[in-house]
Amino acid sequence: MRAELVIVGSEMLRFGRRDTNADWLIEQLERLGIETSGRTLVRDDPARIAAAVRYAMEQAELIIITGGLGPTEDDRSRDGLAAALGLPLESDSEMLERLRLLLLSRGRPFGDNQAQQALRPRGAAWIDNPVGTAPGMILAHRDRLLAALPGVPEEMKPMFRAGLLPRLENSHGRAFHKRTLKVAGRTEPSVDEQMKDLYATPGVEVTILSGSEGIELHLVAELAESLERLEALMCERLGRDLYSRDDRTLPAVAGELLLELGKSLATAESCTAGMLAAAVTDIPGSSAWFRGGVVVYSDDLKIKLAGVREETLAARGAVSEEVARELAAGVRTCCGADYGIGITGVAGPGGGSEDKPVGLVHIALDDGEDAGHWRILQFGDRHLVRRRSVTAALDRLRRRLLDARDRRGAQ
Ligand code: ATP
Ligand code: MG
Repeated sequence: MRAELVIVGSEMLRFGRRDTNADWLIEQLERLGIETSGRTLVRDDPARIAAAVRYAMEQAELIIITGGLGPTEDDRSRDGLAAALGLPLESDSEMLERLRLLLLSRGRPFGDNQAQQALRPRGAAWIDNPVGTAPGMILAHRDRLLAALPGVPEEMKPMFRAGLLPRLENSHGRAFHKRTLKVAGRTEPSVDEQMKDLYATPGVEVTILSGSEGIELHLVAELAESLERLEALMCERLGRDLYSRDDRTLPAVAGELLLELGKSLATAESCTAGMLAAAVTDIPGSSAWFRGGVVVYSDDLKIKLAGVREETLAARGAVSEEVARELAAGVRTCCGADYGIGITGVAGPGGGSEDKPVGLVHIALDDGEDAGHWRILQFGDRHLVRRRSVTAALDRLRRRLLDARDRRGAQ
């Protein structure tokens, strides 16, 4: 079975709006083994919606529409859908009464606009909306299954799960197994090279992706055993470079290790200016292992707040191994943490020089006894350089914690 998405909403065509509904739906469908063959994004215009639905029906057996189901003038998906199918729109008196009571109970008026939510193409069934007012609808028409859901993601998702998913599972019956292997501290070509003889494994589809949080290998298989067999092989090859096989993020993995070992972390950041601290505090419960950190952008604050020595700064410059090490050691001591991380670098686009080019980042990790340092040269724009620095720092920490855990285990 194949699916087509028709995403309705003029606002979704404006700069900066992300169509997260399609992302989410594509993932849900993939899990069912349903391939999405296309997605059309149209403004709130019944003729455009109808044309998109008609086209979608030529391409696939399942058509999902989101958006344009509300009570306002510009919510036109009902009309578009009915026009595409050549079916009349009919008002359902039972739904009308339900909506009237629902709105009354919330002290809201019930007018013509509200009443249009009780209209559906002849033959369509309702999908209840547990969150908002606009109900969704589903209907089978000439070997096609069509569903219309609201645009608000918090409404759309539960309605897909309750109204559409069971139907797709029954008719389709092939639940696909998925796994994401996340890798840090490696480049995409090197992982690709290491894995490519496994890509042709029968029954499993493998894709490799690179992002600011490392490399991901996506495995999809119809049979759990085929997936598990390949997963085990890949994990063995990746060793410590693999940090997650269950969707956990790098900060979450590092945090769990800190928690397990009963250790704490503090950060002193120059070029990432708090991005590392923000990433770790994004993890619920991070207060159990994250002590705090400082953003020390200027030289004098590196001295005042993070214990960097004036002589070091003068002799080596702010972007240097020595300053990274002193940041890590300084913040560890001043925050009373077990581990300190220091980051300093040239994020660009300006400020680079021949011996300190844009993308050069020094990361240090200090635990009082052992101080590690890494000089990393990254490509990409300012934002990417900063995000990758956070990833690199967390990965160094993770590896150090794995070593500490091994040592503890050996004792
Ligand atoms: P209602 O009017 O009942 O809220 P609706 O079906 O009319 O629902 P829309 O008016 O199309 O929904 O969208 C409401 C809001 O939902 C949008 O402003 C937007 O924030 C969000 N939204 C709509 N479509 C999408 C989408 N494809 N991806 C992410 N968010 C969306
Ligand atoms: Mg709306």
